[in-house]
Amino acid sequence: MKLTDLQRLNEKRVHALTQTGIETVEQLLDFFPRRYLDKTNVVSSSELIRHQEEAVTVIGTLTDVRETGTGRKKRLEATLQDRTGQVKGVWFKGLPYFKKNLRKGETYSFFGKPRRFGRWISMAHPEVDRIKSTDQRSNSIGIFPIYPGNSYLSGAYVTSSLLQSWMRQILEHLTITEFLPDNLLDVMNLPRRNDAYRMIHFPENEQEPERALQRFKFEELLLFELGVMTLKTRKLDTRPGPRFPHTDSHTREFFQNTLPFELTEGQRSALSDIKRDVQSGRQMNRLIQGDVGSGKTVVALGAVLMAIDNGYQAVFLAPTEVLAEQHYRTIQRLLGPLGLNIRLLTGHQGAALRRDVLSDLAGGTTHLVIGTHALLEDEVRFHRLGLAVIDEQHRFGVSQRAHLRDKGDSPHILVMSATPIPRSLAMTLYSDLDISLIRDKPAGRKPVITAQRGEIRREQVYQFIEEQLQEGAQAYVIYPLVEESESLDLQNATLGFENIRERFPNHASGLLHGRMASEEKDRVMRDFSEGRIRILVATTVIEVGVDVPNASIMVIEHAERFGLAQLHQLRGRIGRGERQSYCILMSEPPPEQTTAIRRLKTMTETDDGFRIAEADLKIRGPGDFMGTRQSGLPDFQHADILEDQALLEEAKRHASQLLEEDPQLSAPKHRALRERFTPYFEEKARYFQIS
Ligand code: ADP
Ligand code: MG
Repeated sequence: MKLTDLQRLNEKRVHALTQTGIETVEQLLDFFPRRYLDKTNVVSSSELIRHQEEAVTVIGTLTDVRETGTGRKKRLEATLQDRTGQVKGVWFKGLPYFKKNLRKGETYSFFGKPRRFGRWISMAHPEVDRIKSTDQRSNSIGIFPIYPGNSYLSGAYVTSSLLQSWMRQILEHLTITEFLPDNLLDVMNLPRRNDAYRMIHFPENEQEPERALQRFKFEELLLFELGVMTLKTRKLDTRPGPRFPHTDSHTREFFQNTLPFELTEGQRSALSDIKRDVQSGRQMNRLIQGDVGSGKTVVALGAVLMAIDNGYQAVFLAPTEVLAEQHYRTIQRLLGPLGLNIRLLTGHQGAALRRDVLSDLAGGTTHLVIGTHALLEDEVRFHRLGLAVIDEQHRFGVSQRAHLRDKGDSPHILVMSATPIPRSLAMTLYSDLDISLIRDKPAGRKPVITAQRGEIRREQVYQFIEEQLQEGAQAYVIYPLVEESESLDLQNATLGFENIRERFPNHASGLLHGRMASEEKDRVMRDFSEGRIRILVATTVIEVGVDVPNASIMVIEHAERFGLAQLHQLRGRIGRGERQSYCILMSEPPPEQTTAIRRLKTMTETDDGFRIAEADLKIRGPGDFMGTRQSGLPDFQHADILEDQALLEEAKRHASQLLEEDPQLSAPKHRALRERFTPYFEEKARYFQIS
């Protein structure tokens, strides 16, 4: 069956459908209603008074649209009239949009909670749907689907009822094959495919669409999990890696004699996971997931030393130059006593130094190189690369790992994420990675007390800082730095520094930003960490690597401009010593910045990195979570990777059972599934590879 077989389909409508991403009848059938008008819950306006605090639908003609009030009190009021009376829809936000789209004389439905204000009944921000006269005829059906709209569809008069009539034709003529095995449908209590489509487009009761949707979500997630697992078995089978049997010289020396502290339980177990991997003869692909401050660097260094002990080189990749330099300094200090040759490679080094670093790498005298993206260039060759560590994995694009794999003879890969991703999501995102979780933190850390303060309370905040400084504490004052090159931000920090100097004349203060020369940065950092500077005004260069246990105050200026993960990272710089620490978020985001408000609220409510990551995901939505679409996050049509985590787990369990029982899906009862899965996998294979 083709689209053109449908009745009442003219060229304009074909175009509108194409613009909506619909080119086949199958795709049209997969165009699901956005919501349903439950006619059983349509209330006439005179009855509304009896339905306060209950979401109901009113249908009527729009008789008036007007803006009232001024300034902050400005709002839009639209009057809807039916046979029995009137109701007002009221908007405080998005006025221009509604003003443009609400037309007098047209029929609309308002869906929302009615409230009485004086003699009016009104609904604040109701859901609005325009009802075409043709749609009204189908009012006799109890539950009426409302399809998602756009300007192409409405321009071509593709109404919800027209869509429904097309759906009816398709369901009458199209053969819909079931591909989930019968026993699975039974166990999961899911409707068959053809029934599910009927329930979506022609529901007989309120529960049917939900039940049908579960089925479509489940099939999507099952196919996805089958893909992930198929790829994973292939990878495990095929990719050998270097073997590191010896851990008896540098590795042992470091952990027994050099390291100034005891490892935590989480660090210990991550290290033993790594040790098992690198001795297996297969390539390691492991993610170390642990909150900021959980001590991932030391774990990575363990892996680095194992490589070196076995005659291999290692590379340590950081997302920015500042971070690379900071790692370089810390690691030099930690590994220095072992007499290893450690180099730094960034994009901003002089040509002579760069040549020197490159030749030492290729010649094999360098044991470990730390650097930025510059390490990924073709020019960079290794004598014998055995391990690649990627810090702050979430800041890299997904192709980088593949790039590193080609640099050596399948080097082991260890990635570290400071943004603790919800576990099930991590397993999906990094489907070809094994995960070691560090849940504990080094002993003796106190939770940081966090508060948000507006400009009006700045003096109060300063007084508090003054008291804390008197007691011997040190403080950070952080300014945002969107791009390292943005001079405006630099100006902010510089002015902020002048301010602080004037306000706290009795306490030494210092300024730190990314544009300073390394030696100067070093000097300021050293002065702060040795207590000669008491207040450090800085841009986000201090995000990672800075470790001054006596610093217990952090003021974050323009906190609304930071992402949640970044705020959490920053705050991780304090709360490291004996003293109670305080983080003050200076900000009063305007009310329309709802996501900023939610971010700040999350920060004041918790300092558990896992909860923050979940909140981040909810606020931003999964598509944006890792910054880009190519993050490896699957693009599901119906399922929502966060909301449907339980279903994802189910899908995973069943996928694994299926493949265990019938790895090739070659049994007759799995034939339909295989026929559906094979093209799916081929289409998605590329994307599975890079995740
Ligand atoms: P992250 O996981 O955020 O990368 P780091 O590796 O930078 O954390 O470690 C944070 C700080 O904790 C560093 O100063 C590090 O030296 C210290 N640290 C790491 N492990 C321990 C431990 N087991 N006991 C005490 N301090 C530790
Ligand atoms: Mg780190």
